[in-house]
Amino acid sequence: MSEAFAPVDFLTALKRGWLGRCPRCGEGRLFGGFLKMQAHCSKCGLGLEPFRADDAPAYFTILVVGHIVVPLVLAVERYGDTPPLWFHAALWLPLSVILSLVLLPRIKGAVIAMLWTHRPLASAAHRGAEPMP
Ligand SMILES: [Zn+2]
Repeated sequence: MSEAFAPVDFLTALKRGWLGRCPRCGEGRLFGGFLKMQAHCSKCGLGLEPFRADDAPAYFTILVVGHIVVPLVLAVERYGDTPPLWFHAALWLPLSVILSLVLLPRIKGAVIAMLWTHRPLASAAHRGAEPMP
């Protein structure tokens, strides 16, 4: 690409990734499906294939959903009237699944954006040069 792009700060890139947009231009979509990454940004041509999130989005999603659901379960047990197990199963299992499905693509987009913002550091480390400030 010969087109120059303005530098993007970390929080802007993170927000764009959270919204499923290209971290560089903020216009192209990151995903072609639910979690399937596009090979390139359709607007600016940024190659997205080198940025692999691997298991990080699933890990962070489990971390966040667990920190939302487990305190709610404990609060219901402590302050509720000790509801039966079927009540817990009927309430917390769907809530956990819905929260996971809502958060997973957003967290994956944010992880991809974070990887993209740190690519100069990774490149410098591979070359053995000092990382950029
Ligand atoms: Zn783009």
